[in-house]
Amino acid sequence: MTTLLGILNGEVYDPQNGINGEARDVWIEDGKIVSGEGVERAGAEIIDATGLVVMPGGVDIHSHIAGSKANSGRKFRPEDHRDHVRARGTLASPLEGGLRGVSRSGVGYTTPTTHLTGYLYAEMGYTTVMEAATAPLVARHTHEELEDMPMLDKGVFITMGNNHFIMNCIRDGEREKARDYVAWLLGATKGYAIKIVNPGGVENWKWGQNVGELDDEVIGFGVTPRQILTTLAWINDELGLPHVPHIHGINLGQSGNARTTVETIEAFEGRRAHICHLQFFSYGGEPGRMLRSGAAQVARAVNENLNFTVDVGQIIFGEATTMTSDGPLQYHLHELTGNKWLNDDVEGETGGGVVPMLYKRKNLINAMQWLIGMELFLLIDDPWRVFLTTDHPNAGPFFYYPHVIKLLMDRDYRAEVLEGIHPRARKGALLPEKAKVLNREYSLYEIAIITRAGTARVLGLKNKGHLGVGADADVTIYANLDDKEEMFAHPRYVLKDGEVVVRDGQLVRERPGRTLYVAPSYDSGIEADIRAHFERTYTIAFDNYPVQDEYLPHCEVVPCS
Ligand SMILES: [Zn+2]
Repeated sequence: MTTLLGILNGEVYDPQNGINGEARDVWIEDGKIVSGEGVERAGAEIIDATGLVVMPGGVDIHSHIAGSKANSGRKFRPEDHRDHVRARGTLASPLEGGLRGVSRSGVGYTTPTTHLTGYLYAEMGYTTVMEAATAPLVARHTHEELEDMPMLDKGVFITMGNNHFIMNCIRDGEREKARDYVAWLLGATKGYAIKIVNPGGVENWKWGQNVGELDDEVIGFGVTPRQILTTLAWINDELGLPHVPHIHGINLGQSGNARTTVETIEAFEGRRAHICHLQFFSYGGEPGRMLRSGAAQVARAVNENLNFTVDVGQIIFGEATTMTSDGPLQYHLHELTGNKWLNDDVEGETGGGVVPMLYKRKNLINAMQWLIGMELFLLIDDPWRVFLTTDHPNAGPFFYYPHVIKLLMDRDYRAEVLEGIHPRARKGALLPEKAKVLNREYSLYEIAIITRAGTARVLGLKNKGHLGVGADADVTIYANLDDKEEMFAHPRYVLKDGEVVVRDGQLVRERPGRTLYVAPSYDSGIEADIRAHFERTYTIAFDNYPVQDEYLPHCEVVPCS
């Protein structure tokens, strides 16, 4: 039996299809968007969207929600659970057979548990989220948690920037071998994209060091961050992966890193790539000295290099939990704040750490970080290339996205918040570009780009982020309120695969989501080499390493081109 649903007469924002607030009907049949022509409307479920704003479901390009690192954060921060408890509930919409569904309990503020993460995203109108970094060795755990996270379609980025096998191939001039290995690795881990974190620096941290320049040497391998970046960018193109290489570069959080960020952009020589949480990479000033804003310099480089997209990683004042594969950075943050620190070493693949964080308005560095994020949003001209993230939970929890949207859409509100930050940070606000930073306001059309259409496009998700025929029927319907934070925090309706899952900001139905992954083809001759590498260096057997299909009962393979 087919199910038909019509969303009638809404003010539709669908930038992928060039629709900017026009009154339209959206028709859904069996979980997909269909053309309204010729559908048998009798018996269809109808949502009267007159006066309401209709957008595709939100698509988050970068968030740390699952797996060993997120779970370490949960275990490491019991204080994060207290006072942030959601009890088990009864859902309004009956399940098949008339049974009442229940929602599961959960805890956590910056590190919510799996079900709660799915609920909070859905209640905010997001229906697709990318888990931003998983070491290959622990991908199975990530998939277990993603399977346990309802409401959302998801994918996993696999960290490769400090991988011994890849660095050996680069050293030996065997980039085709590295390509086949990466294809095998993505398939074995059921990953979605190549993630690079502090290339070479995490390996050097295992020797108590780091890298600071693109041409520094990785200890024991004789390769450089530049070679790692450019080789993986070449591999990404060769394999035709749907997403571009997803890069957390060198020198995150360091004063003066705007220079190495611009050099990183230039190093790609026109190849496509994405830099995540750019705010943390846009600091001026001298290394080791007080940070200044480098946003103008970095925004200029992004504006000029059309091959690059970025997400911002906007600071939210309040509690956060930093968690990253960037091991040396976490030690640095621990030294800086005196907060507790967890360090991790993932064999010949990567490392990582967790440090709790509190961002304060009146702290000069934090106030500068907040301002630099805002400056990037406002100085990068093309909304198709700058996306909304808080690098959850590193710069703040994802459920503050509506707050950031208000900051971008409402310059009076932005000016009000600016008044409340550390006075020296306020004074340091970019002078030549100040008018633009103070005056620009994002439109609803632009918000639809930076939260769904643009992210879906660069992720290569052809069925997401738009409302054209054939798209997945993930739809969010908002009341058009003057207070944009209130508007985006409590959608009137959220539909996942054509079913109403949220009504008036409340979860009414639970649905599983799918895990999206790639399976690029490769020369299977590579497997003998990988097996030998496992026998020499890994604590786990080659045959036990790949994530079995049973771990992903809800999944979809996204084709490579
Ligand atoms: Zn991140």
